Amino acid sequence: MTAFLMSNYRGYDKIIHMKTLVLATNNQHKVREYNEMLQPIGYEVKTLKELGIKIDPEENGTTYAENAYIKCKATRELVDLPVISDDSGIEIKAYGTFPGIFSSRFIDEQCEGSYEKGFVKINEMLEGKEDRRAEYHCAICLLEERDGEPHVFEGICEGVLLHEPHGTGGFGYDPLFHCTETDQDFGTCTEDEKNAVSHRKKALLGLLKYLNNK
Ligand code: IMP
Repeated sequence: MTAFLMSNYRGYDKIIHMKTLVLATNNQHKVREYNEMLQPIGYEVKTLKELGIKIDPEENGTTYAENAYIKCKATRELVDLPVISDDSGIEIKAYGTFPGIFSSRFIDEQCEGSYEKGFVKINEMLEGKEDRRAEYHCAICLLEERDGEPHVFEGICEGVLLHEPHGTGGFGYDPLFHCTETDQDFGTCTEDEKNAVSHRKKALLGLLKYLNNK
């Protein structure tokens, strides 16, 4: 679980102890966000790509937590390190929890894989509706041992959907998301600003609290 990173600091070799977690995702945007949040606090994130693992298990759970567990379990079978996985999505409150766990599939299957088309479609769906609230949800699953108990940590970030996409920052639905917690558009704020309040960061804080108390 521990790796050593050698770095040259004022002429001395410094050894930094890093703890390793495998991140079970093929989504490079998520990898980047996890690295940005975990590296500064001493965690090295190994990705499926870096480990040469190609898996794409069917996410047929009914909740974020179940889907996160499916990805985590499939990966933990193949590696000898603790694994974390992330299942996330956006919920348009005027439509209950939609698209929620189908956020990625909604774009792929109903918007020809284009977020720009998705943004137009969402705005058509919201036409005449006053309620433009949306929530990002994230569940992180940690599986330390192959046959061990999974631990799930969840986070929510609240916002409203813009009438038009704004900026190109973040990924996925971010250009259409205005975070009401910080009064910032996720398409134009910095990565640090998004990472300070995001659903992912909140779920991660739960994970870190658990790891620190072990
Ligand atoms: P999955 O968790 O890989 O099944 O995909 C979740 C999908 O939800 C992503 O592909 C995005 O469409 C959306 N999503 C989740 N988190 C974010 C985020 O932080 N910003 C923008 N879109 C997100």
